[in-house]
Amino acid sequence: MTLLSAYKIVLIALFASSGATFILLTFVRAPYGRYSRKGWGPVLPVKAAWIVMETPAVLVIFLFYISGPAKTAPLSVFILLWQLHYLYRTFIYPLLMRGGKKGFPAVLVVMAMVFNGANGFVNGYQLFHMSGIYPASWLLDPRFLSGVFLFLWGMYVHVRCDHLLRNLRAPGETEYKIPYGGMYRFVSAPNYFGEIIQWCGWALATWSLAGVSFAAFTAANLIPRGLSHHKWYGNTFPEYPHKRKAVVPFIL
Ligand code: NDP
Repeated sequence: MTLLSAYKIVLIALFASSGATFILLTFVRAPYGRYSRKGWGPVLPVKAAWIVMETPAVLVIFLFYISGPAKTAPLSVFILLWQLHYLYRTFIYPLLMRGGKKGFPAVLVVMAMVFNGANGFVNGYQLFHMSGIYPASWLLDPRFLSGVFLFLWGMYVHVRCDHLLRNLRAPGETEYKIPYGGMYRFVSAPNYFGEIIQWCGWALATWSLAGVSFAAFTAANLIPRGLSHHKWYGNTFPEYPHKRKAVVPFIL
């Protein structure tokens, strides 16, 4: 099988898994964090789980970058943006986390590793082996400029929300509190909103089906979880500000 045919198969599988993920997570809450429960097999320490499951995303695309024939300026920007996100999510975010005493199911870690490997593969192959559509002039294309802006703004939103959530707990605490500040004024899960915007920006800047598949998967994964968080806050805290939407300000 050639890399091109593997790319096509994995891309179709990623689009299909977005649809399946959205339907599944609408009915079953992913069993980590506040929804941790028995019956999902062995668990790993939470920090180690995040590091292990996100590492393929860092490595796979980097292999495509160093082996790719072209290294134009837009491609350098793409690898920098990707690694900026994944170095944060893989190492900085888990090491700063507070709480997480419940463990993270190993089965979810394996599923996330498969997704991150596949996602790194389609994005890495598309960018660094199929390119030719990214000459230096792409740096001034409105799709690139607006996509990079959305990527950076979305990343700023979720990094800030991660920070606000983390500071709800003193070191060693595990309970949940109502988050305030930043985009928590508008929605219950602005961290998810920021992440979705970020990968929509990626899809726009790269103008690629691989980018669209990642944005679609992120939305399929995080919108149902954000809706569950919203319901959970309302049921758990009688004083919860009910004017907040779940994930998308003023809309959803
Ligand atoms: P959550 O919002 O469920 O939890 C994030 C962290 O904050 C956890 O450590 C959690 O603790 C803590 N926390 C959450 N709410 C509260 C609260 N009310 N009071 C105190 N502490 C709280 O996010 P996820 O774990 O689902 O996701 C983490 C990040 O990863 C997000 O930024 C998300 O965007 C990203 N992500 C991206 C995905 C993608 O498909 N691209 C998929 C999944 C996540 P505890 O663990 O104890 O609940």
